[in-house]
Amino acid sequence: MRRGKRPGWMLKIARERIDILFRMADREFAANPGRSHRYTELARNISMKYRVRIPREWRRRFCRRCYSFLKPGSNCTVRISGGKVNFRCHECGHIMRFPYIQEKKEKRRNKIESHTIKKGADEPVTFGAHNKRGKGRGD
Ligand SMILES: [Zn+2]
Repeated sequence: MRRGKRPGWMLKIARERIDILFRMADREFAANPGRSHRYTELARNISMKYRVRIPREWRRRFCRRCYSFLKPGSNCTVRISGGKVNFRCHECGHIMRFPYIQEKKEKRRNKIESHTIKKGADEPVTFGAHNKRGKGRGD
């Protein structure tokens, strides 16, 4: 198989498929968790094959170790400690830690976006001293 970058349309379809699979996983979870885990696995396979990222909204919805679909409150516990958000997978006990700063960043981004969309205005954003710029896992 030829390696390297796939054409844009192919990546677009891959991203769409990942999104659809996670949506299906979310919907199926209550009735059929096994199926959700399978969908997650398929989404992950697509992500690896086409080298596309799992969209931000789904990145925390599966376990990095056992690749189960995670539903906070059902098979996953969310705790905040030491400036980190901890997701504990009940399927295998794996704990994933995400920097809390990302949450803040996301909130701010959403706020700015909704503001811009609603009013079409650009408001200056103030960066407080506590808003250290996170390194690494941003995209
Ligand atoms: Zn797990």
